[in-house]
Amino acid sequence: MALVRAAMVDRGVEVLLLSVGADLPWLIGYEAMPLERLTMLVVPVDGEATLVVPDLEVPRVCHWPGLFAIEPWGEVDDPIARVVGLVGRAKTLAIGDRTWARFLVDLQDQIPQARFTRATEVTGALREVKDHHEIERLRVAASAADRVAAQLHAGEIALIGRTEASVSAEIGRRLVAEGHHRVNFAIVASGPNAASPHHDAGSRVIERGEIVLCDFGGTFLDAFGVGYCSDITRCVHTGPIPSELTDLYAVLHGAQAAAVSAAEVGAPCESVDAAARSIITAGGYGEQFVHRTGHGIGVEAHEDPYLVAGNGAPLIPGNVFSVEPGIYVAGRWGARLEDIVVATETGPDSLNQADHALVVVES
Ligand code: ZN
Ligand code: ZN
Ligand code: ZN
Repeated sequence: MALVRAAMVDRGVEVLLLSVGADLPWLIGYEAMPLERLTMLVVPVDGEATLVVPDLEVPRVCHWPGLFAIEPWGEVDDPIARVVGLVGRAKTLAIGDRTWARFLVDLQDQIPQARFTRATEVTGALREVKDHHEIERLRVAASAADRVAAQLHAGEIALIGRTEASVSAEIGRRLVAEGHHRVNFAIVASGPNAASPHHDAGSRVIERGEIVLCDFGGTFLDAFGVGYCSDITRCVHTGPIPSELTDLYAVLHGAQAAAVSAAEVGAPCESVDAAARSIITAGGYGEQFVHRTGHGIGVEAHEDPYLVAGNGAPLIPGNVFSVEPGIYVAGRWGARLEDIVVATETGPDSLNQADHALVVVES
């Protein structure tokens, strides 16, 4: 909270308003229900913060006296009026990027003097640099995802003859069994479907002798109720691997390793992308690498910093991000390899340790 207030001073923000979205749980360990009923933390640059929250949600609030006060509202109260009262005469307000438009529109109506900016201007630079505690939470989440990847590699998750959707559901169950609080996604893309980077696991039945791309992750809660995300991609092959695919995968693996090695403190984000892209291009697959190399990760599965051409910002110690190049051959197959990596003073630290090989799974 002290860091947030310092950032508010820096940005000339008088009041910060946080509702649904990741800023609120990141700051106070409470995640607003995505409801028509308004939950909003009002943080004045000086003076006490107040959580305006529906009466019926109060039992879920883990209260930290001294950090914020609680102002419950009942079914016939007007929560917007409560927020307006707390904002007072402030003119410069920063509001959570994911706040529902209906609430922002009402606030704009009722606080005509206010100029609204995005809360990311206050919280972004702070959330992008993880402290030791956060890195350890991300490591715990990554290790849990690694164990599911190891189960996949070991053939414990049957593939042949099952639908992608069924395998996806099983991966989700295993993420929870390994300690995740919830599953955020479990992409299972088989055969030609692996050429679609964000393929939605569907009714296609996985056959013998094809690639199966699995990209999955969830949220792991820490002792304060703040969730940190995992995200990993591994590919397996249901039977002997054609030499053309072995070659493609070798290019991909080399590119991913080079990008991880390039993720040194001080290196521009775009240089990590370039490290992967140059190898994939030299291997003849440049046109088939259709997305950026990575995204930041923390309380959100995708957040700053993004490893993409045009982002010249240097990596700083505590940046945590995915490194996930992919090669997608339309109508045929595709592959991606993804780890979560921390930039540290002593070099890139990969939180994922699961085997990088394209493993043959005969089950
Ligand atoms: Zn992923
Ligand atoms: Zn990712
Ligand atoms: Zn490797």
